[in-house]
Amino acid sequence: MTNPIRKVVIAGGGTAGWMTAALLRKVLQQHIEIELVESQEIGIVGVGEATIPPIQIFNKYLGLDEKEFLRETNGTIKLAIQFENWRISGESYFHTFGAPGANLGFCSFQHFWLKAQRAGLQRSLWDFDLNFLSCQQGKFNKINTQNPVYDMPYAYHFDSALYGQYLRKLAERWGVTRTEGLIEHIKVNADSGYIEKLQLKSGKQIDGDLFIDCTGIRKLLIGKTLGVNYENWEHLLPADSALAVPSERFAHTLPYTRSIAHKVGWQWRIPLTSRNGNGIVYSSKYMSDEQAEQTLLNNLDSTAIGDPRKITFETGRTQQQWHKNVVAIGLSSGFLEPLESTSIHLIQSGIVRLLKMFPNEGISQAMIELYNAESKQEFETIRDFIVLHYHVNERSDSDFWQDMRNMPIPERLQQKLAAFKETAAIFNDSNDIFKDASWLQVMLGQGIKPVDYHPAAKVHGDEELLAIMNKIYHAKLQPLAKMLPHDEFLSRYINA
Ligand SMILES: Cc1cc2nc3c(=O)[nH]c(=O)nc-3n(C[C@H](O)[C@H](O)[C@H](O)COP(=O)(O)OP(=O)(O)OC[C@H]3O[C@@H](n4cnc5c(N)ncnc54)[C@H](O)[C@@H]3O)c2cc1C
Repeated sequence: MTNPIRKVVIAGGGTAGWMTAALLRKVLQQHIEIELVESQEIGIVGVGEATIPPIQIFNKYLGLDEKEFLRETNGTIKLAIQFENWRISGESYFHTFGAPGANLGFCSFQHFWLKAQRAGLQRSLWDFDLNFLSCQQGKFNKINTQNPVYDMPYAYHFDSALYGQYLRKLAERWGVTRTEGLIEHIKVNADSGYIEKLQLKSGKQIDGDLFIDCTGIRKLLIGKTLGVNYENWEHLLPADSALAVPSERFAHTLPYTRSIAHKVGWQWRIPLTSRNGNGIVYSSKYMSDEQAEQTLLNNLDSTAIGDPRKITFETGRTQQQWHKNVVAIGLSSGFLEPLESTSIHLIQSGIVRLLKMFPNEGISQAMIELYNAESKQEFETIRDFIVLHYHVNERSDSDFWQDMRNMPIPERLQQKLAAFKETAAIFNDSNDIFKDASWLQVMLGQGIKPVDYHPAAKVHGDEELLAIMNKIYHAKLQPLAKMLPHDEFLSRYINA
C-alpha cells in the first residue's frame, strides 16, 4: 500500500485521455482532483470511427443526450459490419450486433437452424436476425420493446476526434483541469519506482498520486519511463500499417461498416453524416505503401478529400497495463487492428475496470495483478477473434492469404474452431467481449460448416420445426414496417 490517492494526472488528450477524464470525474466527483496534460505540438492519432454497442452504456453513464452526441460527433447508426471477400473473393457476410432467431429451448438457436436445414429449410441464419434484415433494407428505428425477438442492439460510427472534444467540454465543465504543454521529463522516486511528477517544456511541474498514461503509441509513462515491455503479436496479425483518407458523403448512409478484403489486407468504409471514413490496413511485408495507396484510391466510392495519411503501428499489448502508480489506457496499453472496432471499447473497459478497483488509501498490489490478468484475457480473446477472420479463409490469390491460413494459431482458438466444426457448440471465455452470436456469424461466414448439432434440437419433429422457423422469420420482419431509411431516421431524430 502507498499514499492515499488524492490527485490523478492524465497524460494525453486523445480519445483515451478525455474518455478517462470524463468518466473518472463523473464517478469520483470532487473527491479526487484530476488534471489532464496534452500537447497540441504532438496532436492525436485522429482516426477511429466505428464502435460496438457497449459505448451506449458509457455515454449513458456520462449522462450524454444521444441526439446531442450524434450531432456533436457527426455520428450515424451502426448495426453490423459487412465482411466482403474474406472467405473467397466475391462473397460477403454480416457480423451483426444482433442474435439470430429466438430462444427455443436448452440449446442455442444454431442447433435448431442446422436441424431445420437438413429438413429442407432454405433460409440462411441471417434471415432470422433483425439487425441483418434492417441492414439489407438500409433502415433503422429505435424499437421500444421488452421482447428479445425484437432486440436490435446498435452502436455508432462517429468522428473520434470530435468525440474527444465533446467530452473535453463536459469534463472541463465538471472540474477537470486541462494543461497544455509538452512533457519533457518524468521524475521517478528512486526507492518506490513510482512516478512523482511530470515536467513540461515550459518548466511547469505536475505532481500526482496516480498517473494514467494516455500518450498513445509513445507510451511515455508506462513504456519509456517505467520500462514495461510490449508483447508483439505480429506472428498472428502481421498488419503494421494503415492509410486513411476521408471521402465525400454518399447520398444514402449505410447503417453498417464495410470491411473489404483485398489481395493483401483490407479496407474499411465508415459512413458519417459529414463524410465517409476510408482506410486500408496492410502488412508492409506483403505490400508496399504505393501499392496500398493505389488499392485504397481505386476502391473509393466517392471523391477523396485530401491525401491518404500513413499510420504505422505494432500489434500487441503492454505486458503490465497497470504498473506501480501508472495505468495505461488507449493505444499506450496495446493495439489491435480496427477490424472489429474494438480500440475505443478497450479504452472504455480499461476505465471501468480501473474504477471498479480504484485505490482509496493506497495502491494494492493484489488489485494491480487482478487488473492486469483481466485485461490480458480481454486483449487475447479479441486478438483470437480477429485472427479467426484471417485464418479461416479459402482464398488462393496471394501468399498473404495462404500464409494466414497456414500459420499456427493459439491453442484456445484451435479448440474453439474444432468444437464448432464437430458439434456446432460455442464456448465463451471469461472477459471475451464477443459473445456466442458474434463467433457464430464469423465462423459460419468464413465457411466453417458444423457436421453435427445438439440432440436437444430433436425435441421438435421436422415439420413442426420448419413451421416454428417460418413463424420466427415472419416475426422478425414485422418491425421493418415501422423503420425508416437510415438518413431519414437521423435527420428526424437528431433535429427533433
Ligand atoms: C488506422 C486506425 C484505425 C482505427 N479505427 C478505429 C475504429 O474504427 N474504432 C475504434 O474503436 N478504434 C479505432 N482506432 C483506434 C483509435 O483511434 C484509438 O484507440 C483512439 O483514438 C485512442 O487514441 P489515444 O487517445 O490512445 O492516443 P492519441 O490519439 O495518439 O493521443 C495521445 C495523446 O497524448 C499526447 N502526448 C503524447 N506525447 C506527449 C508529450 N510528450 N507531452 C504531452 N502530451 C503528449 C498527445 O498530444 C495526445 O493528446 C484506430 C486506430 C488506427 C491506428
